[in-house]
Amino acid sequence: MKLRIYAIVMLCVASCGTAQAEWYKRIDDGIMGTRIVVELWDENEVHANAAIDAVMDEMRHIDESMSVYKPTSEVSKVNAEAALHPVKISKELFDLLQQAIEFSEITDGAFDITYASVGYLYDFRKHIKPTEAQITKALPGVNYRHLIFDKKNQTIKFYQQGMRIDLGGIAKGYSVDCGIHILQARGIAHALVTAGGDSRIIGDRFGKPWIVGIRHPDDANRVIAKIPLVDTALSTSGDYERYFEEGGVRYHHIIDPKTGHSASKVRSATIIASTATRTDGLSKTAFVLGPEKAMEIYNRIRDVDAIIVALDGAVLYSKGLEAPK
Ligand code: ADP
Ligand code: MG
Repeated sequence: MKLRIYAIVMLCVASCGTAQAEWYKRIDDGIMGTRIVVELWDENEVHANAAIDAVMDEMRHIDESMSVYKPTSEVSKVNAEAALHPVKISKELFDLLQQAIEFSEITDGAFDITYASVGYLYDFRKHIKPTEAQITKALPGVNYRHLIFDKKNQTIKFYQQGMRIDLGGIAKGYSVDCGIHILQARGIAHALVTAGGDSRIIGDRFGKPWIVGIRHPDDANRVIAKIPLVDTALSTSGDYERYFEEGGVRYHHIIDPKTGHSASKVRSATIIASTATRTDGLSKTAFVLGPEKAMEIYNRIRDVDAIIVALDGAVLYSKGLEAPK
């Protein structure tokens, strides 16, 4: 059963000019299987709460349409039918799938939504993992190039049987961007929207940057770096988020599309860029490609910065974050 925490917290009352503006914050643990946080600065309580409601509604809509855990979602329909015939999908899903393909291309296939062809065989909560024979059988289904799109008819088809897609690696970032657009359209200039490991910030906080901490991979209470952020997005992926251990091996939720095993070349990766769709789409790469190759890719993309925690605990920074020499 999903736990729903629903809290409105007025963080601060400040007298700023003539209007009485306040911070409004709400946390919801019942959408997309993760924690959603919306925090914003507004002069009017009704306006603030209506804006937060609209963001939560948008997140629910994305969950309804993109979750593989909901049999009625568009993505579930694609997984059930696209090997048989082209499946007509919404423009929203079609466009996000195009972005997912772009991330596959940028990351040499490290990000690949068809990872699910083997990924569905894992259940980290129930400590279930596939056998080598199951992985070998399922692996041919993993290949983003085998997704056949028809732009004119807005359809998707799988090249072969046994393929599945899962947007778990990009939909939360996308939902954060949608939430931010809703707030901006309502004139809100200072806000934070978070869905699981994906966040985006508009404006500053009390005239200073928002300070976002990156946690230690083995200790949720220890912070390894604090980053000041204004008007930007940030995603962290970690091998500590969803995992179980067996025989000294950690089985966790980021899958190497080439092997079908958990991708374990780093402990965590934090990406900073202009949109959360982008940071989400890039944060899995370091786990699959390792710190050097991933950093090369991150450094190559303008406006992208990265902080990687390597297997030995070393904290590596992309060029844009290095201290000036
Ligand atoms: P969060 O869901 O907390 O934002 P991440 O951004 O690290 O966490 O995303 C992890 C999710 O990405 C996994 O649960 C899975 O749904 C998806 N995923 C795992 N491996 C891959 C991959 N190689 N390519 C694309 N998506 C992946
Ligand atoms: Mg994410």
